[in-house]
Amino acid sequence: MGAVYLKSGRICPDNGAVVSLAICAADEFMETALVLTERKLIERIRRLAQKTGHCGVVLGIGDDAAILQVAKGQQFLVTTDLCIEGVHFRREWHPARCVGHRCLTRGLSDIAAMGGEPVACFLSLGVPPKLPQRWVDDLLKGLVELAARSGVALAGGDISSAEKVMVDIVVTGQVPAKKAVLRSGARGGDRIFVTGELGGSAAVLQQLYAGNKVTPTKDSRHFYPVPRLEAGQWLRHHGATAMIDLSDGLSVDLAHICEESHVDATVDAVYLPVAKAADLALALHGGEDYELLFTVSSKTKLPSKIAGVRITEIGRIQPPAGSQTRVRLRGLDGRIGPLKPAGWQYFSETC
Ligand SMILES: [Mg+2]
Repeated sequence: MGAVYLKSGRICPDNGAVVSLAICAADEFMETALVLTERKLIERIRRLAQKTGHCGVVLGIGDDAAILQVAKGQQFLVTTDLCIEGVHFRREWHPARCVGHRCLTRGLSDIAAMGGEPVACFLSLGVPPKLPQRWVDDLLKGLVELAARSGVALAGGDISSAEKVMVDIVVTGQVPAKKAVLRSGARGGDRIFVTGELGGSAAVLQQLYAGNKVTPTKDSRHFYPVPRLEAGQWLRHHGATAMIDLSDGLSVDLAHICEESHVDATVDAVYLPVAKAADLALALHGGEDYELLFTVSSKTKLPSKIAGVRITEIGRIQPPAGSQTRVRLRGLDGRIGPLKPAGWQYFSETC
């Protein structure tokens, strides 16, 4: 078969990848930029998926469904994240490789926040017909590079035409039975910690909104955030009582822990690890740092670094003072006031 144009299709297993493919002849669909040959597309996705793997994947791409094996004594984790162009990323700001990386990070970070180990991921992609083929290839590369580094297999997915780029990621993982670290485990007296630094991703976003050019370097936590998988597993093993990943911003995500645990909390502004180029407001409310926010009992001893990542104690959990949970901030002047959830603003045109 010669050059064809993808209208919709399913990444299926068996022969490799795309089945149920709706294809137009070249002269029917000249305006499209997403030029594919069926064989090339199948080969490309299957070849890329082969760079990834996990022993829990009995059968990946190659049949009607993937087969996953949960190890003895483990429970299964599943998380899903949808990234939409113009809402979660902008093509003029975010290179395709970065979009693939960031979308998978969202799912892996959720697995990390449960203290789990990722096993397999599934990619569903909506692509406008005029999207350059190169853009899709680069998105896949970004996703597969992170998948390979994180020990998670790309085990299937789906493709369809869409008005805007849509990337839906399902990530599965495993965790020892009944040992997952939940949002609901914090108790009065627990200490509150974060990994890494806060506000760095939002600081970059602020620059982009201001019209400044920002080079998407590999070490940028905005463009290429690294999910804290190893730290999450270590914390599960060493007594974290509650945990969440910082996707929406500290003020929102700490409120989630307090609501689920039915406790109050106070954060000390003076201790917050504010990222270089960020400020206190960005550290409190900026999203998408993908660090871990966790609590431990007052007796638990922790090292200064976990899995090579600095951790910082930022506050305390208190027993609930009323029926509604309260999150407070002790400001740099020492005064305590409410810390209202004012987290993540997505990339919508109205922001
Ligand atoms: Mg999460």
